Amino acid sequence: MIDGRIMKGIGGFYYVDTEDGLYECRARGIFRKNKQTPLVGDRVQISVVDEEKKIGVVETLYKRDSELIRPPIANIEKALIVFSVKNPTPHLSLLDRFIVLAERENLEIVIILTKVDLDDENLTEKIKGIYELTGYKVIPVSSKTKENIDKVKEELKNSVVVFAGPSGVGKSSLLNEIDSEFKLQTGEVSEKIKRGKHTTRHAELLKLQCGGIVADTPGFSSLTLDDIDENELKDYFIEFDEVDSCRFGNKCRHENEPSCGVKEAAETGEISKIRYNSYIQLLNEIRQGKRRY
Ligand code: GDP
Ligand code: ZN
Repeated sequence: MIDGRIMKGIGGFYYVDTEDGLYECRARGIFRKNKQTPLVGDRVQISVVDEEKKIGVVETLYKRDSELIRPPIANIEKALIVFSVKNPTPHLSLLDRFIVLAERENLEIVIILTKVDLDDENLTEKIKGIYELTGYKVIPVSSKTKENIDKVKEELKNSVVVFAGPSGVGKSSLLNEIDSEFKLQTGEVSEKIKRGKHTTRHAELLKLQCGGIVADTPGFSSLTLDDIDENELKDYFIEFDEVDSCRFGNKCRHENEPSCGVKEAAETGEISKIRYNSYIQLLNEIRQGKRRY
């Protein structure tokens, strides 16, 4: 038996990466009987059926640490959230939405600001200031001048990551800089999928030369907050936790409650007012969404 990780699944075959290479595996029938479906990203144990042809059988599924729905991948550890400082102009409320979704999945978060070579308004420093105040690591990069590409590589080492962010911000350019063999799905292909020309699209994990494993599709293709509870949202704005003393303690929604420490902190600048306003905006959106049903 050898340990490995499912990198890809197609038509009932699982491609399992191990110390001894990649094996094409079927899963034991027992999984289906127990209603367990092996998922890309799963850590597994396989037995080798044919060493020469690299054929095996998935015998054991290890416990999952996490499970993303879109794309469907298990055991992602880190989200690299990518936004450009220009072309397109960054919308911080959209960035906060990505952060909320990644926090909910309990992923480690690193923010990557791309296209800093185009930054003529000093937005890099401004955005860096806002998010470093929350405790997130922020890495300004340029695929054009190669600034800080090595720092992104450091984040990838020994991690299983997903890149997330709007289209056009430079995710594929960045990945191509990190690993010349990497080819992210092009915009053209995903357009085709939207139009339904390809029926299924399987997520896949790719090994990078720098060590580390990356999903071949951007994370969080759906940005809806519909299944987040309005009392839960505050947990995903991690800097609120650092503020002591709201009169209603953990029950405080940091909205209109008297002597809310979070609201005060947003006024004094201890936490970012922009982030606080984003929180209120998303809170209202969640409420409106609930009313629709
Ligand atoms: P994706 O949709 O997030 O994968 O974005 P792409 O990697 O396809 O990049 C979108 C556009 O931005 C392309 O025209 C790239 O050439 C351009 N681009 C990407 N990174 C940079 C950068 O660091 N600097 C500049 N000036 N342009 C970039
Ligand atoms: Zn409060």
